Amino acid sequence: MQEPFKVSIRVKPYEGRQRFLTQRIGKETIIQVECPTQTIRDPDTYEQRSFAFDNVFNEGESTRDIYDSSIQQMIYDCVSQGYNGTILAYGQTGSGKSYTMFGNLYDPLVENDGLVSMVLDQLFQMNVKISISYLEIYNEQIRDLIGDQVGLQLNEDPIKGVMLQDVQEFQILTIDQAKSIIINGNQKRVMAATNANQFSSRSHAIIQLFVVNQQYQCKLSLVDLAGSEKANVNEGSKGIRQMEGANINKSLLALGNCINMLACDQSMKKFVPYRDSKLTRLLKDSLGGNTKTLMIGCVQQVVQCHEETINTLKYASRAR
Ligand code: ADP
Repeated sequence: MQEPFKVSIRVKPYEGRQRFLTQRIGKETIIQVECPTQTIRDPDTYEQRSFAFDNVFNEGESTRDIYDSSIQQMIYDCVSQGYNGTILAYGQTGSGKSYTMFGNLYDPLVENDGLVSMVLDQLFQMNVKISISYLEIYNEQIRDLIGDQVGLQLNEDPIKGVMLQDVQEFQILTIDQAKSIIINGNQKRVMAATNANQFSSRSHAIIQLFVVNQQYQCKLSLVDLAGSEKANVNEGSKGIRQMEGANINKSLLALGNCINMLACDQSMKKFVPYRDSKLTRLLKDSLGGNTKTLMIGCVQQVVQCHEETINTLKYASRAR
């Protein structure tokens, strides 16, 4: 049976003087949270638009609140009933995707867990065997962030599903071991960020956890997607930037198309266009079918981000 695809929105709090400054120019992007719908008001025209989601997490709500209400039960069901599980963070650069997925994993001085640590904590309490792989997709190439190999080939096995040639899968015995693998992997991610503390916004990062208990095995995929604004390739961009943008566009579009098709009735399912990008080929057995999937659309309230916020709300609402 097709498992429902769930979509939540997380609204990032204003930073520093942002709230004061946007209020002073009288152009706040008003995001009204009336779960499960979200209304956004255009700062110029005051036009209101509403979108529907499974959940909306307002600026006051923590990553722990998201975990407790949307993820804990999902992980429990996946492990105890043998479903695959996928969590995708979508949104423009700076909207809080890495904060939501990784929390303080790049800055151990800040006390703040992300969803990845919370999932690992829960799994270690469930007495299961866990292996991890950590991958990056950049410019339609898959890179192993543990083994360091680039250009990994994808194959499909009729029984085992999607297989990656030569990928390093590491059995993890403690949570600290898992965290240090992820921290090391994050340091290898494409060095495009201007700030050393910021993750790359040009690549998709995919942590896969292979979990085995006495009865079942399942694959949990935790995905920090490339910044969605990078998909807007403008005509002025040249060379490598243009290629990056085109590839990000291709994969986010393919992901959206697969999700939309999976939400359609049974007769359309055979046309799910997984083959259109590396991201969707890799996630073929982790989207739809025997999979519980949650997409978290991350948005910002500042007026400069209004258009991208609308784009994220549109993309995410199409996924339901
Ligand atoms: P992205 O991964 O989408 O590019 P980040 O997760 O790097 O964005 O977030 C950008 C900045 O905003 C970071 O400094 C991060 O700590 C901060 N931030 C993001 N979301 C929140 C939040 N919910 N609460 C507080 N700070 C946040």
